Amino acid sequence: MTTIEGNLQGLSERIARACAQAGREADEVSLLAVSKTFGPDAVRQAHAAGQRAFGENYVQEGVEKILMLRGSTEPIEWHCIGPVQSNKTRLVAEHFDWVQSVDRLKIAERLNEQRPEGLPPLQVCLQVNVDGGLTKSGVAPNALPALASAVSALPRLRLRGLMCIPEPADGFEAQRVLFLQARALFDRLRAEGYALDTLSMGMSDDLEAAVAAGSTMVRVGRAVFGSRPVRVTSSA
Ligand SMILES: *Cc1c(COP(=O)(O)O)cnc(C)c1O
Repeated sequence: MTTIEGNLQGLSERIARACAQAGREADEVSLLAVSKTFGPDAVRQAHAAGQRAFGENYVQEGVEKILMLRGSTEPIEWHCIGPVQSNKTRLVAEHFDWVQSVDRLKIAERLNEQRPEGLPPLQVCLQVNVDGGLTKSGVAPNALPALASAVSALPRLRLRGLMCIPEPADGFEAQRVLFLQARALFDRLRAEGYALDTLSMGMSDDLEAAVAAGSTMVRVGRAVFGSRPVRVTSSA
């Protein structure tokens, strides 16, 4: 068994335990393997172990990997989870299946215009800034309803849910409280009639708290692939 295969197995047990503790079924939470900074071989190994959904933060790096891995027998589902600048929307629209980090209408409109006709609609989560945290990405909760309404009207995008990356909090309960804010926003949109099924939250260090708060997708990098090298450039 490769290290990655063992990590994936350990992780699926960890997710199952978190679900059991939250009184949820293990299949309510899917795993997005975050492969940023890791090469195509790491993705291949995870794919061989049965993992199908992968997340990338840096558009250019993600597209390079997508092109290298094209033609796998089983298709890979690629999620863009990092900030998307205007000059990168075309690459995202043409190569990714999902983008979870939409926080401005202008970006959504460009993705909608640039999504190729031959592809299914781009699956979208709105990134919400639940804690007004230092990471400035994410729509403010009070601006979320208007953004959701505008994005859901774009025909080449399909609004699937919300994504959040709260600031690290101290301990399970403090983390859970932050994730519950995203959950409340998600529930409110659903109550207003949006057919949302994805609440993307929880990473290597806080996935238990996210699952307890209702996450349907955890995005895990280090606990799958190992620790990342320090990134020296900041190009997206
Ligand atoms: C890097 C990253 C992750 C994974 O973080 P780990 O701590 O490695 O599990 C998840 N989501 C986003 C948006 C990330 O940038």
